[in-house]
Amino acid sequence: MTEKCGVVGVSLDGRNAARPLYYGLYALQHRGQESAGIVTHDGFQQHSHVDTGLVGDVFGEHDLDALAGHAGIGHVRYPTSGSLDTSCAQPFSVSFKSGSLGLSHNGNLVNADEIRDELAGIGHAFTSDGDTEVIAHDLARNLLEEDLIRAVKRTMGRIHGSYSLAISHDETIMGVRDPQGNRPLCLGKLEDGYMIASESAAIDTLDGDLVRDVRPGELVVLRDGGSGFDSYQLFEAENTAHCFFEHVYFARPDSVIDGTLVYEARRELGRKLWEESGVVSDVVMPVPDSGRAFAAGYAEGANEESDADVEFAEGLMKNRYVGRTFIMPTQDERERAVRLKLNPIKSTVEGKSVTLIDDSIVRGTTSTQLVQLLKDCGAAEVHMRIGAPPIVAPCYMGIDMATREELMAADKSTDEIREAIDADSLSYLSVDAVAEVLQRERLDLCLGCVTGEYPYDIEGEATDREVTRPEIGDESVFADD
Ligand code: SF4
Repeated sequence: MTEKCGVVGVSLDGRNAARPLYYGLYALQHRGQESAGIVTHDGFQQHSHVDTGLVGDVFGEHDLDALAGHAGIGHVRYPTSGSLDTSCAQPFSVSFKSGSLGLSHNGNLVNADEIRDELAGIGHAFTSDGDTEVIAHDLARNLLEEDLIRAVKRTMGRIHGSYSLAISHDETIMGVRDPQGNRPLCLGKLEDGYMIASESAAIDTLDGDLVRDVRPGELVVLRDGGSGFDSYQLFEAENTAHCFFEHVYFARPDSVIDGTLVYEARRELGRKLWEESGVVSDVVMPVPDSGRAFAAGYAEGANEESDADVEFAEGLMKNRYVGRTFIMPTQDERERAVRLKLNPIKSTVEGKSVTLIDDSIVRGTTSTQLVQLLKDCGAAEVHMRIGAPPIVAPCYMGIDMATREELMAADKSTDEIREAIDADSLSYLSVDAVAEVLQRERLDLCLGCVTGEYPYDIEGEATDREVTRPEIGDESVFADD
């Protein structure tokens, strides 16, 4: 099961956690629209409200009032495969002999099936096909024998893949990031407590201050009553594997991820795009909303470094009431959504050469339709510039890229794609430019979908580094203790 989600957790002094969690989930709504949920603990018992739908639809006043307690976690989810029902909605909550647990997961485990089989073999009954329940069962089993920190460490030593977790164990809230830090997770300070969230925009929404990113391999435990936090560096990988695509597409531009403001990164990527493959045209136009920062950087670069007076224009108007095409589950829905979603302003394109800037081409449906739309409106030329390298391989770590067969660049050259989408020219950003702008070594990023080499050991796929998958039941996780 592959999931791309948003997680949040708060521990507060005196104030109920439900409303801050609710607002935090609103801030993370772009990370998942399929289901939403909150789990809280009031010191005696755990409360949970989870359902399919948008945050605003899932929670009413009454639901929030019933979520008692000063500590809790929340989750928004979008599925890219697996069940489209409540069985995979999160947070996953359960009570074991070792206490109550709530779990919100963003990412995708590579070895969930092995662990599920092992646990099922010793009597654990599973209610979903999701990774999250596997982590919850493993953690609950370890909590019978270990203290909290060692139990989390043991579970981290057994799971392999991408995970940022918000965990509640009774009233204790924890944040965990996988040793390569694939998915984002950050720590914030509120007036009356602390929080963890997938993106710093959720901390801003609660008038908090970003303390820092949760480090790869780190467990952060928020102290009960919101008085502080404790940090445990449980694992350290030689290299990180931050998903570059968070900066390119998924995260909010106003979030700071791993020390970089997403908006600035996108603008810089746009400038690089101009440097690498700039074409002088009458108008530079973003595909809204995700192409906007790239186009701003590209136009800045064009105007600074050439004599041309390139106009930056918002020539495509977006109908805000249509969801993101990227997350529509079927091809037919996606095709319809593009036409519903974007409408060109004729006067900005008629008779002009247009450079259209987008963040990526996945299946190519949107690009083909947009080029056609602009030409139908009288554009003399349409040049397409993409703020990421060609996506040639699927994502196994949590972003919906679909299968290789559906990816336009998987078996086509750039020129073949240009021809297929009927653009006058097409260029992508290079992988090296991405690493340079994000100020990381290539090996500290996950670039799996653009290189076909992954930072995790995935059956049938190549790796870009030496990866050791944990042996299930491996005790070496405590070797350093
Ligand atoms: S494969 Fe691509 S989308 Fe998936 S985690 Fe890696 S960089 Fe991100």
